[in-house]
Amino acid sequence: MEKAIILSGPSGVGKNTLGDFLLAKFPQLAYSVSATTRKIRTGEKEGKDYYYISVPEFENKIQNNELLEWQEVYEETYYGTLKSELDRIHQQEQFPLLVIDVFGAINVMKNIEIETLTIFIDIVSLEELEKRLTQRGTETAEKVAKRMEKAVVEVREKSAFDVVIVNNDLITAQNELATVVAQFIGAEYSDLKL
Ligand code: 5GP
Repeated sequence: MEKAIILSGPSGVGKNTLGDFLLAKFPQLAYSVSATTRKIRTGEKEGKDYYYISVPEFENKIQNNELLEWQEVYEETYYGTLKSELDRIHQQEQFPLLVIDVFGAINVMKNIEIETLTIFIDIVSLEELEKRLTQRGTETAEKVAKRMEKAVVEVREKSAFDVVIVNNDLITAQNELATVVAQFIGAEYSDLKL
């Protein structure tokens, strides 16, 4: 049966790290590569982290109904899940792992016809999130402030998700995550602490 896993939460909460952990733990999963109009960052790879496209190309995909969901996550910066990615992964007999923003995840819940496991990675506190975003050093102070504003709105949506996991202690969060994912896909998982 076709299924998908959606991992979401505010920017800077550690969802990419947790997503990478799941991909390493479960070969049954494959990362759903999103399309974006933002610039490629140092260390990122086209087709691995994102498909980097122009705004007109993105708008074209919206018009052609090629996206399962899309969001203008930040001003003039679009992100979206390609329907073709999900098809590609299902054809490989794997489960797609979507690591996407909160409102995108909510739109997927409305649009998708297959069974999903939706996971919200919660912040410890707003102060801690600001510290993480600043330390990451990839955004300007102005962008950090915008992401903080967005996080306040996003945490209000967490009750729409199947599971909420607080990323305070990484090992604990990884264990909680792997346990629910293993159950969803019918895989074996033994606690990392054992
Ligand atoms: P970043 O620019 O830091 O890679 O990502 C910014 C935000 O966009 C993150 O919260 C990330 O999860 C989200 N994002 C990445 N891909 C998608 C997507 O396909 N759809 C939506 N709605 N959000 C996405």
